[in-house]
Amino acid sequence: MHINKRDLLKGAAASLGAALLPRKVFASGSGPLPTRTLGRTGLEVSVLGYGAMQCSDASAIRHGLDRGISYIDTADCYMGGRNERIVGQAISGIRDRLVIATKVHISGEARMRSSVDRSLASLGVDQVDIMQLHGMSSRNQIVRRDIQQIMKSMKDEGKFRFAAVTTHSNQVQVLKAVVEDGFYDTVLVAVNFRSPPALFEAIEEAASAGVGIIAMKTQNGGYRDTSWPELTPHQAALRFILDKPGVHVAVPGMLSRGMVDENLQAVSGKGGLTDLLRLEAYRGELAGRACSFCSRCLDQCRYGTGGLDAARIAMYADGYRDERLAAERGVQVAAAVRTCADCPGCTVECSQGIDIKAAAKRASIFLA
Ligand code: SF4
Ligand code: SF4
Repeated sequence: MHINKRDLLKGAAASLGAALLPRKVFASGSGPLPTRTLGRTGLEVSVLGYGAMQCSDASAIRHGLDRGISYIDTADCYMGGRNERIVGQAISGIRDRLVIATKVHISGEARMRSSVDRSLASLGVDQVDIMQLHGMSSRNQIVRRDIQQIMKSMKDEGKFRFAAVTTHSNQVQVLKAVVEDGFYDTVLVAVNFRSPPALFEAIEEAASAGVGIIAMKTQNGGYRDTSWPELTPHQAALRFILDKPGVHVAVPGMLSRGMVDENLQAVSGKGGLTDLLRLEAYRGELAGRACSFCSRCLDQCRYGTGGLDAARIAMYADGYRDERLAAERGVQVAAAVRTCADCPGCTVECSQGIDIKAAAKRASIFLA
């Protein structure tokens, strides 16, 4: 379809507003990577963090850390535990100048303790900075006093400095609960240029209340387009999210030195008109393929599962082109994916036009 440049520009300006006008957060030229204070933790972190989730190359991580990245995100369950060991290699000798965040699933105390201890051993550290409960999706999970007590006792023992959460679904509800409850200090949120306004409002409110905000899924997949070599869609998407009020650090997944350099280049440059145009074109490329984590399907689904999990697994396979990740995550959300795959007919209207039944069938491949 032919895209009229004037229409494109008009649409881009309307949907993205003035968010990408030049701003002072980005260092100019090859200056130092800008930093921000991560909410009430008081930790000073580089605006570009390292999402290590899929990275199997310790030298790529070290490449980023040596260029000013000071925040790194991993988890015990990534790559069956191998990811933390790779991160451990990358941070060897420089741990003191880094903020390290990892994750633990809600479980019984013995299992949670064992997971946290395994993380410390794999990373080769006595303490991590941020320990996040993995994948919160409701207020009820946030306010559980039994879980808070387990987290508090491990924190008091010095295993980590700050208790936190991550979320992919019902994110607005989770953010509001974190603010109201006050126990957790940071939230790792799935957010990008396609996210709904309500999520950006909740992020801003949470940050105003002192909650540290870490943004993930900021570039919405690994879809490739080489038609704009001067500014990749990932660079424009990263700049967009770092310009949003309340976002302290973004942790895009990076697999190679090239991806690290691409993101470093983005945060050392200024956003502007080209970003607007690039993002609007990228939005079109992603339509019907990439989940935006809006959670709209969770309310609409007659079985209460929604299509988010199925869409996410299909996105990992088709967008990120990472079948290993799709398989790893697919197992964790197998019940939800199966519900969609077995469902007689989807009545959900996905905000991004995703065919949820088709996504579920694709995701089912990775459940074995
Ligand atoms: S396929 Fe069925 S279970 Fe899945 S989101 Fe649609 S209505 Fe819900
Ligand atoms: S599957 Fe669609 S409706 Fe559900 S969270 Fe993803 S984008 Fe939103």
